[in-house]
Amino acid sequence: MADDDDAAADRLRDRVAAFLGQHDPHGDRIEFLRARFDAGLAWVHYPVGLGGLGAPRHLQPVVDAAFVLAGAPDNQPRRNSIGIGMAAPTLLRHGTPDQHHRFLRPLWTGEEIWCQLFSEPGAGSDLAGVTTRAVRDGDDWVVTGQKVWTSMAHRARWAILLARTDPELPKHRGMTYFVCDLSGPGVEVRPLRQLTGEAEFNEVFLTDVRLPDSLRLGAVGEGWQVARTTLMNERVSIGGAPMPREGGMIGLLTRTWRDRADLRTPGRHDEILRLWVRAEAARLTALRLRQQLVAGEPGPEGSAVKLSFAGLAQAISGTEVELLGADGLRHDDWSLRRSTEPDLLGRGATYRYLRARGNSIEGGTSEILRNIIAERVLGLPAEPRVDR
Ligand SMILES: Cc1cc2nc3c(=O)[nH]c(=O)nc-3n(C[C@H](O)[C@H](O)[C@H](O)COP(=O)(O)OP(=O)(O)OC[C@H]3O[C@@H](n4cnc5c(N)ncnc54)[C@H](O)[C@@H]3O)c2cc1C
Repeated sequence: MADDDDAAADRLRDRVAAFLGQHDPHGDRIEFLRARFDAGLAWVHYPVGLGGLGAPRHLQPVVDAAFVLAGAPDNQPRRNSIGIGMAAPTLLRHGTPDQHHRFLRPLWTGEEIWCQLFSEPGAGSDLAGVTTRAVRDGDDWVVTGQKVWTSMAHRARWAILLARTDPELPKHRGMTYFVCDLSGPGVEVRPLRQLTGEAEFNEVFLTDVRLPDSLRLGAVGEGWQVARTTLMNERVSIGGAPMPREGGMIGLLTRTWRDRADLRTPGRHDEILRLWVRAEAARLTALRLRQQLVAGEPGPEGSAVKLSFAGLAQAISGTEVELLGADGLRHDDWSLRRSTEPDLLGRGATYRYLRARGNSIEGGTSEILRNIIAERVLGLPAEPRVDR
């Protein structure tokens, strides 16, 4: 950190200390988190009044570390990962002041969980193909359609929703972005069971769901631009989460390697070493990407981080299963659990192996991310498109 940064970091530590002098970190958890938000110590780079202080983003870890040191409760970002990682930056960039004040605080404290109603049976990679309709009716919009693979819809109160408002226009231009109240009439959430046995995600059926126009995010017909903010943040949020050295799945693999001398072979040694180096490179790249975010919004580099995260997670979990031999094939639990987040570190090797298959699909498939890198990072010719 430069001298100015050091001084700014010291001032933030002083602020946290003053806050802790007034708010008991061992008292009521939600009251504490609400007060932290109101003091601008939630996400310091957000504006004053919206959980932040307008400070540089890279100073956030200073604040987080000071709260951890005090034993303060955290806001469990993984529990509301879509809210924190995707809905919040989209709301901040495209929302109205009323929307900022209504949504950001309960989102950050985790009092309101969010999910993402983007994918449909016929619109995943080709997201601009959504057919869920939103039709204007006075001050409301009436929404009808089917969404799929909706992680956390069974826990969520709110959803970010992409819907078609003008079927006559070329598909990227006829869409509008909404915030959808999942507690309203016409919303049906059904579990979808995954390869792991769990149902982390759902099908969501929307039948004549009425949304007031005040829940529209961005201009009518501008939904694609708003969705791009979400998608770029999604890739960073999936692939760029902070990780200590030898943390995550590589940590589990290396621990097994160190503890189980009976499993070792020279060939496996080389393989695990190579994975360790890849994991460290991926971790440092994600760190650098988060630092670059200080300057603004995530760019296409987020796609590269998400792409390498997915490949690495699959390679590590595959090696772990092979290393463990027959033990690696014993799935710990195949009952239908309604979890909210993948438990990649808490469950057994088989779970990790099975769940990691989804890493190269969720948040944009690896094939699509390679296209983005080819076109927007390397400047290679784009695929021909007839739909714009
Ligand atoms: C664990 C998990 C959680 C998810 N959570 C959510 C969620 O919360 N909310 C949500 O809205 N969605 C969610 N999704 C959906 C996810 O975003 C889509 O599955 C993904 O975008 C792929 O779309 P698709 O399944 O329709 O596949 P398709 O688009 O049908 O693709 C099928 C195959 O064709 C390839 N392909 C398609 N087009 C091209 C092309 N132009 N060039 C090269 N290859 C191509 C794809 O890469 C893929 O391999 C989740 C998915 C998973 C696995």
